[in-house]
Amino acid sequence: MPRIRPTRTEAIVLRQRSLGEADRICVLFSPTRGRIEAVAKGVRKPLSKMSGHVEPLSRGQFGLAPGRSLDIITDAQTLDSWPELHDDVVRMTEALALSELVDRSTDIDVAAGPLYQLLRHSFDALAVTPSPKAIRWWFTLRFLDQQGYRPELSACVRCRSEVGPEGNGYAAGEGGVVCQRCYESGIGQRLSSPVFRLLRYMRRSSCEATAQVRVDADASAELERHLRSSLEQTLDSRLRSRSFAEDLARAETIGRSAALAATAKEREE
Ligand SMILES: [Zn+2]
Repeated sequence: MPRIRPTRTEAIVLRQRSLGEADRICVLFSPTRGRIEAVAKGVRKPLSKMSGHVEPLSRGQFGLAPGRSLDIITDAQTLDSWPELHDDVVRMTEALALSELVDRSTDIDVAAGPLYQLLRHSFDALAVTPSPKAIRWWFTLRFLDQQGYRPELSACVRCRSEVGPEGNGYAAGEGGVVCQRCYESGIGQRLSSPVFRLLRYMRRSSCEATAQVRVDADASAELERHLRSSLEQTLDSRLRSRSFAEDLARAETIGRSAALAATAKEREE
């Protein structure tokens, strides 16, 4: 394993958990290194200078030194503390939901600049928006795009015909909208025309503009269902491909050791 030299990186703190008596493990998200799990030593002691700089839902500059298994945070300076995300339970809940998506979808030591900028921009917007939920919807559409699962919102994903404004369906597993004829033949979930219009509007608009749209409770619940289905598809297939890659690596290791054992046996005989 190549050792990584001590480095400095900007990162957003996604979450943290306690370690031992006084330490915490912080999950950082860096534009250049993706997800980093690093130990903040002594931060649960009352006089820790670092504790205020490693809070979840904040952005900072971190010094990182390689430790035995995880990096050690050598120093931390807050760049954005987003107090509004900490003082308001609704904003905090939405911000934590975005953090969790990023946490589940990023790898250790893989650059993730565009996703980092998307998360940072969404946190900025969440801090001041009148409609925190809309920021999450807006984020989710772009998150899906970046993960390679851009929902199709123009042509039917089943028959490729142009979809009309009404009577359509949404088939997350097939990647987007289905036309009225395909929907009536049993494909996808109902996609009401206000939600269809909202999806298309969100795709082409800023998050600030999206947050100005009035959405009633029914449309909000329907949109949540469609976005959740798309996210599940994306994260599921990601988990599958991740475990497939892991299986492959394991199989290679096992295969290699089996081959080595066979060679050793041959030599003995
Ligand atoms: Zn169709």
